[in-house]
Amino acid sequence: MRIDKILSNMGYGSRKEVKKLLKEGAVQVDGVPVKDAKQHVDVNEQEVTVHGEVVEYKEFVYLLMHKPPGVISATEDDVHETVIDLLEHEDLIFEPFPVGRLDIDTEGLLLLTNDGHLSHQLLSPKKHVPKKYYAHVRGRVTEEDIEAFRKGVVLDDDYETKPAELTILRRGETSEIELILTEGKFHQVKRMFEAVGKKVTYLKRTEMGPLTLGDLELGEYRELTDEEVQQLK
Ligand code: URA
Repeated sequence: MRIDKILSNMGYGSRKEVKKLLKEGAVQVDGVPVKDAKQHVDVNEQEVTVHGEVVEYKEFVYLLMHKPPGVISATEDDVHETVIDLLEHEDLIFEPFPVGRLDIDTEGLLLLTNDGHLSHQLLSPKKHVPKKYYAHVRGRVTEEDIEAFRKGVVLDDDYETKPAELTILRRGETSEIELILTEGKFHQVKRMFEAVGKKVTYLKRTEMGPLTLGDLELGEYRELTDEEVQQLK
């Protein structure tokens, strides 16, 4: 890849700004100053430095966010803050987008990436990536609900859900539950409980495939490890 493209992709400025860095002699490839913006570099074999600092080139970024409520899972919105607004400049360079959506009032695990292929795979109904949710539900969740969710319930648009695993953590006026889905229809958790006459009052996604929220606080995010990225593929 051309040295000017590598450096502008990695956030060292526009092509023009990068050209200036090159001209100043700030850029070296394997210890040799490079001034020609058109010079090709093999990012896997050669070491690029800017002002002596090694440039770790990567094409994709994979971010795991603990989405707070009130924030939209989209790249742009005229009214509300988006999950993209929560990212630092160094991650924005890669132009990540959310993989799927969580409702504005839903909290929890949201993956962001610029890897369109992986995103497409993870959202594919064929892949059946399990997603675990924790919820508060108004009304007493029953053994019948567990059985109904296991068999599949019919939503308000006549869609019949795939088998889902419901666990009751606490019963009462408001019940606490966990639900594992292998699909992701619009408002699915809320609509499944509506189908059995109950209302979700709090919803949080806690797991997606091999990924868990761990100790990320609301609004925090971290990069996936290489191992986690491999597990998703
Ligand atoms: N199901 C919902 O109802 N909302 C979400 O945000 C995610 C799953």
